[in-house]
Amino acid sequence: MNIYITLDYEIYFGENHGTVEKCIIYPTSELIRIAETHDVRFCFFIDCGFIFKIAEYKVKYPHLEKDYNAITQQVKYLSDTGHDIQLHIHPHWEDSYYDGERWIINIKRYKLVDFNETEIADIVFRYKKVLTDITGKSIFAYRAGGWCLQPFSKIKKAFIENQITLDSSVFRNGYYSSEHY
Ligand SMILES: [Zn+2]
Repeated sequence: MNIYITLDYEIYFGENHGTVEKCIIYPTSELIRIAETHDVRFCFFIDCGFIFKIAEYKVKYPHLEKDYNAITQQVKYLSDTGHDIQLHIHPHWEDSYYDGERWIINIKRYKLVDFNETEIADIVFRYKKVLTDITGKSIFAYRAGGWCLQPFSKIKKAFIENQITLDSSVFRNGYYSSEHY
């Protein structure tokens, strides 16, 4: 049996979103340190919208360069050492911003389907490109932020256009409903 251990690679959202170092870089380096001793490889679903936003805001706030470099270098390292890198979309980054000290996260449009079809196509294209630019490898799998994949008919076209052919938004036997989900 082949077992694929998959992880989301992201900070928290909300007021206490944590830091890139404590939420992403350090725990990931600890996980892969253990994985390497057992010759295990993971599949990381990368919150690309966050990388996209850091790239945008580091122009105005150069101290973000450190976070940007730490993430892009770690993702490249993971890819180069045999871990799989795939697409995780939290589209609320489209409405979120950096105020100079912290990320102000707006989850009014939390799901991909909260956007119109033109916007969805644009988000999938831009976010996927973040990963192909870093890894130089093919990106074909997807995990929806918060498992929110439905109604799939609204995002299907964007996936076909961007060669996203595998979904990993699995919430086995689960059901969850809230204001934004
Ligand atoms: Zn996530």
